[in-house]
Amino acid sequence: MIDDNARASRKIAEQRPDLQLSFEFFPPKTDAMEERFWDSIHKLAPLQPRFVSVTYGAGGSTRERTLRMVSSVKTDTGVDAAAHLTCVGSTRDEVDAVVRGYQEAGINRIVALRGDPPEGVGQPFTPHPQGYQNAADLVAGIRKIGDFDISVAAYPEKHPQSADWQVDIDNLKRKLDAGATRAITQMFFSNADYLRYVARARAAGITAPIVPGIQPIHSFKQISNFASRCGASIPAWLAERFAGLDEDPETHALVASAVAAEQVIELLDEGVTEFHIYTMNRSNLALALARILGRRPD
Ligand code: FAD
Repeated sequence: MIDDNARASRKIAEQRPDLQLSFEFFPPKTDAMEERFWDSIHKLAPLQPRFVSVTYGAGGSTRERTLRMVSSVKTDTGVDAAAHLTCVGSTRDEVDAVVRGYQEAGINRIVALRGDPPEGVGQPFTPHPQGYQNAADLVAGIRKIGDFDISVAAYPEKHPQSADWQVDIDNLKRKLDAGATRAITQMFFSNADYLRYVARARAAGITAPIVPGIQPIHSFKQISNFASRCGASIPAWLAERFAGLDEDPETHALVASAVAAEQVIELLDEGVTEFHIYTMNRSNLALALARILGRRPD
C-alpha cells in the first residue's frame, strides 16, 4: 500500500508543487451553445487557468468564430486565451494572415496543428502546394511572425499516421525544436500509456512539458466514437464501467466523474503538475477535477 505521505493527492494544496491548468473549448455554433460557452467560461475563469484555448474547425471552417471567441474570452474575463490553428488545406499566406489577426487581437498563445484531411485522419495527408508541410513547419512559420507561446500536439498512443515510435517521437521533437513551448496530449484513458510516452520523449532528449489532455466522459457513446476516429483506445475495463448506462444519465455522470478523478489523482501521484482539460464547453466535471487537483475558484 502506498504511504499517504508519499502521495501528492493527499497533501493540502499549499504543500503541493505549483499546479498549471488549461481548459479547451470549441467555438459555439448557435445562440444556445454560446450561452453555455459563456456560462462555463465564467465558472472556470476564477480557477485562474494558465489559459483557455479555443479550437479551430477543420480546414479553417471556424476561422472568424475562433478569433471572436478567443478575443472575447481575454477581454471579458482577463484570462489568457490560446487560439488553435491548423494549416491543412490553406496556403502559407492564408495561415500567416490568421496568425497576424491573432496578433492584432492581442492573442499571443497559439496551439499549432496540422489538422486532418476532410476525409478524416485515416486518409493520407497531402499538404497544400503553397502550404505548410506539417505542424513543425507551421510552428517555424508562426515563430517568424511573432513571439508567440506555442503548444503542439502529442500522442501517448502514437499518431495513427506515424509508422513507428521513432517517427512519432522524432516528429514531436521537430515541433519543439522549431519553437514550441510545450506539448499537449491527445486524450488517453490508460495512464501507463502517457507515462511510457513521456519516458520515450525524455529518452529522446525532449525536455519540454508534455501536458496530459484529460477528457472527462460526458457521454461514453460520443467519446468512444471520437476516440476511435483520432486513434485513442478505450480500454475494456472502461467500456465495462459504462456498459448499459446510455439510458441512466445520473449513474453515467457519477461514473464519469469517478473515472476522471481517478485518472488525475493517479497522475498527480506520479508527479504530474500540469493538466489540460477538454471541457466540451461544460464546466461541471472540469470544476470538480480542478478542486480534486487542489485548485479552487479565486
Ligand atoms: P503533425 O505533428 O504534423 O503530425 C501528423 C503526422 O504526420 C504524424 O504521424 C507525424 O509523425 C507525421 N509527420 C509529420 N511530419 C513528418 C515528416 N517530415 N516525416 C514523416 N512523418 C511526418 N484538429 C483540428 O482540426 N482543430 C483543432 O483545434 C485541433 N486541436 C487539437 C488539440 C490537441 C491538443 C490535439 C492533440 C489535437 C488537436 N487536433 C485539432 C487534431 C490534429 O489536427 C490531428 O491529430 C492531426 O491528425 C495531426 O496534427 P499534428 O499537429 O499532430 O500533426
